[in-house]
Amino acid sequence: MAEMTFSLASLPVPVQMPPRCARCGRAASGTRRVWLKVNSPCAGPDLTASLAGVSEDDQRRWHDLRQLFSHGKGVVELPVCWWHRWIMPPMIGVKSMTESRVTLWGLADSFVQAMKQRGWH
Ligand SMILES: [Zn+2]
Repeated sequence: MAEMTFSLASLPVPVQMPPRCARCGRAASGTRRVWLKVNSPCAGPDLTASLAGVSEDDQRRWHDLRQLFSHGKGVVELPVCWWHRWIMPPMIGVKSMTESRVTLWGLADSFVQAMKQRGWH
């Protein structure tokens, strides 16, 4: 399994991705949305936890992030195979997230390779 970091400002859309399942690398037959939930940010507190003990800067940062998400950017649509679309949840998750980037894990190595060939890093 591989991971990959995307800029939140330019998340790829399915047409920019290889026609492969993001989870297992088989031929894709559809897409599936992965919600970018901020329950384990690499720095800073749990978003669901109280913000009482957090510095004002951090509070503002998380506020901005929530604003971004409230505008519908908190989701990335990934190509998946029939199996991972209808039978098994693909188990792709958010490893870490900051105000500008997100790292997804649980991606197929061949999917990441194909993404890199298309210029995504
Ligand atoms: Zn699959």
